[in-house]
Amino acid sequence: MNKQTSEFDPRLKHVWRPYTQMQTEPTPLMAVETCGAQIKLSDGRWLIDGISSWWTACHGYNHEAIIAAMHKQLDDMPHVMFGGMTHEPALKLAARLTQILPGSGTENALQHIFFSDSGSVAIEVALKMAIQFWHNLGAPSRTRFVAFQNAYHGDTTGAMAICDPDEGMHSLFKGAIPEQIIIELPETADQMAAFEKLLMGGQRELAAVILEPLLQAAGGMKFHSPETLAAIANCCAKNNVLFIVDEIATGFGRTGTLFASEQANIMPDIMCIGKALTGGCIGMAATAASERVFSAFLSNDVDVAFMHGPTYMANPLAATAANASLDLFENGERLQQVDRIENTLSEELEPCRKIPGIKDVRVMGAVGVVQMTSPRDIDWLRQRFTEENVWIRPFGDVVYLMPSFIINKDELTALTRAVVRVMTEWSNRQKQDQEQI
Ligand SMILES: *Cc1c(COP(=O)(O)O)cnc(C)c1O
Repeated sequence: MNKQTSEFDPRLKHVWRPYTQMQTEPTPLMAVETCGAQIKLSDGRWLIDGISSWWTACHGYNHEAIIAAMHKQLDDMPHVMFGGMTHEPALKLAARLTQILPGSGTENALQHIFFSDSGSVAIEVALKMAIQFWHNLGAPSRTRFVAFQNAYHGDTTGAMAICDPDEGMHSLFKGAIPEQIIIELPETADQMAAFEKLLMGGQRELAAVILEPLLQAAGGMKFHSPETLAAIANCCAKNNVLFIVDEIATGFGRTGTLFASEQANIMPDIMCIGKALTGGCIGMAATAASERVFSAFLSNDVDVAFMHGPTYMANPLAATAANASLDLFENGERLQQVDRIENTLSEELEPCRKIPGIKDVRVMGAVGVVQMTSPRDIDWLRQRFTEENVWIRPFGDVVYLMPSFIINKDELTALTRAVVRVMTEWSNRQKQDQEQI
């Protein structure tokens, strides 16, 4: 039995866990409490969290301002349906988001917010919006999407179809999902010319291009430049193909600006946000549409309306958490904290570059990535990190840190030290394995 858990809990067999081979995967850790940048386990240990619960807990856990706002909302109205009704938390949140999204104040800004309950659904909404946009404009054949290698946009079937087909986890669904066009991210002049040609030739069938701006996260923690992002956006605009940005991972400060799109000064037609939207307290996501996209759905004809509506859409408790989170971005010093994290990560992960078997070390905002030459011993790595009292979950060929922005210097250094130490051990292990062959 795994030595990280003290007892086998028979109820465990009833919980089917994410991305998990249930026959062989070690017993999960039992979390009992969270606070700041740490998670307490049932055995009394506190782990320093290096990945802020899948990049959601940007203000740390149990932030008192968010908790207090949610407590109050919980007493007043935990939920009410959004069809035919609205409520203060959603109205306030939508209006505030439109003020801070990229391009705010310009004529075609992202002025219209469609709420949903998870990132994948926000993506489905964006895809449906793009398809129906063209349909409403009398171009019903425009139903296909261009996405990029190393992309990750979620786990629902529509979203899967625009994920990287090889690197991603969805290749086994090939044939069962709509086939989309997945190309190399156009970074060189040749690639950009090919991309432009694709868009020019795709006027009859293409609905939109979709990209995670600056950081392709779950598809391998790959970075690209603001210039590449700007060139893709311009190419879409020039060729009249919609441009969707997926800021579910990058939104709310993660890359050093409130939204990654700001660094390229672009304004997408549709934008998805999620993950850190509620400060990591409760599920919520949103799809924002530009004036041009939204107005294509206005008509006296009901069939032209957008046909989507999650049951828990715009949940008041979640909208309240999101409003409290936005307050913290407004009043606080989150972006300065991200700058400080960036500096620390750059400095303290640097020694990894010299470790044999490490291919690359890269940092952007509060994202630090150590890439291995080959993905080996991932389970061993995960176990070693928890033994070091840090919560770091390598996947594919990367070990990465995406901590909460309120993490203190000592905690952050404990994380980077653990990475350097464990990756050094890992490297020695690879060497021994090779000598044995
Ligand atoms: C996590 C993520 C999603 C999916 O969000 P869920 O809330 O897990 O459905 C989509 N796009 C990106 C970029 C993500 O990081």
